[in-house]
Amino acid sequence: MIEVHVKCPTCGKSLMDGKHRIDNLPSIAVEVAYAGKKGSLHLSSLYGSYHIDIEVPCPEGKVSNFFCPHCKGELKASRMCEVCEAPMVGFSLLEGGKIQICSRRGCKKHLVEFEDPEQELRMFYETYGTFFKAH
Ligand SMILES: [Zn+2]
Ligand SMILES: [Zn+2]
Repeated sequence: MIEVHVKCPTCGKSLMDGKHRIDNLPSIAVEVAYAGKKGSLHLSSLYGSYHIDIEVPCPEGKVSNFFCPHCKGELKASRMCEVCEAPMVGFSLLEGGKIQICSRRGCKKHLVEFEDPEQELRMFYETYGTFFKAH
């Protein structure tokens, strides 16, 4: 599986948390707000893994808001989820490009975008070549 390393699109600080590991890898640390409660959320950095540790009691099927723990900016993408129409959450990849995930708990929509598709796709294939070959 692909391992993603993300940063805040607003302040550019890394959101990777080496101390909190999920799937045996550093997790992606953000803050979430649901029904007026805020807390930390750790997401697996494996693209396609849905393992999370969440402090806020957000039930399956509900939408929460995601924030950067450094600048407190909302991690909001411009588009809506194609599957369930919830707002997508946007991160920047440390390697370049963007990744978006659906803000609805339990929705499996993930999306990777590259700013410079040609160059970044090449890098992506070089880095993750075995992933694509395996499929
Ligand atoms: Zn930030
Ligand atoms: Zn969705």
